[in-house]
Amino acid sequence: MNNTSYKVIVVGGGHAGYEAALASSRMGVKTLLITLNKQLIGRLPCNPAVGGIAKSHLVSELDALGGELGRNSDYTGIQYRMLNTRKGPAVQSNRIQCDKDLFPVRIQAVLGMQENLDIHDDIVTAIRTKGSKICGVTTRGSGDIDAASVVICTGTFLRGRVLIGMKSIKEGRMGEESAEDLSASFDRFGFTLGRLKTGTPPRIHRDSVDYSRMEIQPGEDPPPFFSRMARKEWKMFHVEHERKDQTLMNRMFHVEHQGLHPWTPGTEQIPCWLTHTNERTHQIIADNLTKSAMYGGVVEGTGVRYCPSIEDKIIKFADRTSHHVFVEPEGRNNIRLYPNGTSNSLPEEVQEEMIHSIQGLEKAEIIRPGYAIEYDYADPTQLFHTLETKRVESLYFAGQLNGTTGYEEAAGQGFVAGANAALKSIGIDPLVLSRNESYIGVLIDDLVTKGTDEPYRMFTSRSEHRLTLRQDNAYFRLLEKTKQIAIVDSSEIGDIEKQRIIIDRESNRLEKVFHEGKSLAQILRQPEISYKDLPQDSGSLDEEVIKQVEIEVKYAGYIKRERDRIEISRKQEKQHIPINFDYDSVQSLRYEAREKLKNIRPENLGQAGRISGVNPSDISILAMWFKKGTVSSK
Ligand SMILES: Cc1cc2nc3c(=O)[nH]c(=O)nc-3n(C[C@H](O)[C@H](O)[C@H](O)COP(=O)(O)OP(=O)(O)OC[C@H]3O[C@@H](n4cnc5c(N)ncnc54)[C@H](O)[C@@H]3O)c2cc1C
Repeated sequence: MNNTSYKVIVVGGGHAGYEAALASSRMGVKTLLITLNKQLIGRLPCNPAVGGIAKSHLVSELDALGGELGRNSDYTGIQYRMLNTRKGPAVQSNRIQCDKDLFPVRIQAVLGMQENLDIHDDIVTAIRTKGSKICGVTTRGSGDIDAASVVICTGTFLRGRVLIGMKSIKEGRMGEESAEDLSASFDRFGFTLGRLKTGTPPRIHRDSVDYSRMEIQPGEDPPPFFSRMARKEWKMFHVEHERKDQTLMNRMFHVEHQGLHPWTPGTEQIPCWLTHTNERTHQIIADNLTKSAMYGGVVEGTGVRYCPSIEDKIIKFADRTSHHVFVEPEGRNNIRLYPNGTSNSLPEEVQEEMIHSIQGLEKAEIIRPGYAIEYDYADPTQLFHTLETKRVESLYFAGQLNGTTGYEEAAGQGFVAGANAALKSIGIDPLVLSRNESYIGVLIDDLVTKGTDEPYRMFTSRSEHRLTLRQDNAYFRLLEKTKQIAIVDSSEIGDIEKQRIIIDRESNRLEKVFHEGKSLAQILRQPEISYKDLPQDSGSLDEEVIKQVEIEVKYAGYIKRERDRIEISRKQEKQHIPINFDYDSVQSLRYEAREKLKNIRPENLGQAGRISGVNPSDISILAMWFKKGTVSSK
């Protein structure tokens, strides 16, 4: 290992790890990414889809801040859809089925081209400290490596166990070695660890299913993208395509498509297929339930409530006679299909019988069995909102390690942890995303304030401000934070600022221009009316601006109320609480509240109010206490 001194070490090349490494190195900080196998960086071990309800909001926010997940999905997509199009803008969500072979290829190419970033194949076996501050890690192959900050993104690998029926194999994912030693190192530093579990379905051969007995689910045209870059290129492609301008086509020819004909995001989409389980499927599972790792007593970790295994569904929804199974392609040149909805840990022979009972899959060839994975996670209430640990300074945790499930949840945390490790290592104030401005903020605040005892998945219902935190306005609501970390190109920021001005100007103009006694805004608020229907020349405003104007005018009242609530909660967030505050000195606080506050050690009054077991009267007592000026506020 060359003796380059690194400011930041990132451990783990999953979705948290590559976002952390890119955020840190793109801020000009010398970064080392250590991972078990660099050929597997960015792997999609489960469902090859990115986005969906609320997860797409996380991806849009990442793109706004300068993350890579959105772009990588746009440029390796095989099917693009917007979900909830008939519902309000708060819950509309993009979902992209990605090519499982090309997704890691592109992310590895992007990492490979990144300055200030080295990548090293090895396993980290321990963390090292000087006093209570991190100073590096120990690896199996290269011994000790120093750094000012360390970000741990080890996913499902800490004491990972792959479980199929009664079989338990020491693996972090099927076919990949687990990390056995690092957990013991965390134990030595007093971190609280727990066990969680998630699962994945079998994979079947694409030539062994009967498509005529399933319902086709095509992609959408034009394709909804996560990133501004892909949206821009899509527009340019349509302009240039006619002129067959080869030079432009080459520029559009992306690293991820080496050897394929020129391709542009969103074209040549591949369909998914819908079928269903039936009573025979459910009977097969019920008859063999005790043989499954989950119900045979092998699993000790808690599973994903909102992504249940097929065994869970049979138990929890016993009255249902069928469940959806979405048969999803894993890639253009990939022979594997992903039967979404059949995740399980049953013995292989039972899995085969179960799959063959499903319409269209009667002759399906199982290429790889489904399995459950159980692993260590670290209780996230041991973290600050920066994702720095409270126990060891300059040590950060991100991703599945913090008790979440999902590529998007992992990537959002990885970005914040990586940015903060870099900022800390160069002595600059941290990046803190609040729950009033972002879903990444909601995710982190929920984790560090409430903790989790089951894999945490994002939902729009987790936010109090859904109408304000939409996927379509991430660039505008995160602009100040984007500028703070300065990863996004300044010309792009300039474009967003210009758009913001045009949106505000046009929204105000519609309130002031009247037509037959009604303001254009009043007309636009009529449900069936869209901006293009207004009695005026819509001029040259671009699609994105028109979309923002429509939403801001149509939902003006709701948005105003949300903004007022945000203002109130912002005030509470401003009341800082020192980490070593003596809650026992506030006699009038209830005993239970004092214990909870001492355990979580909230950073401000707003967070204190969200701790379960701390109620509004406790917060009023604390607020009075601070008002009496016994504690300075930032
Ligand atoms: C079987 C299975 C089923 C899943 N099911 C779902 C699901 O149903 N829904 C869902 O949303 N998500 C699911 N996921 C989870 C999804 O894969 C993760 O949420 C996501 O990949 C987490 O990203 P991460 O970066 O935290 O960790 P991972 O993607 O797990 O990456 C961890 C990385 O760290 C590396 N690493 C680990 N330990 C060390 C070490 N000590 N030293 C060096 N490198 C190390 C590994 O090699 C790997 O590259 C599933 C994952 C698996 C494996």
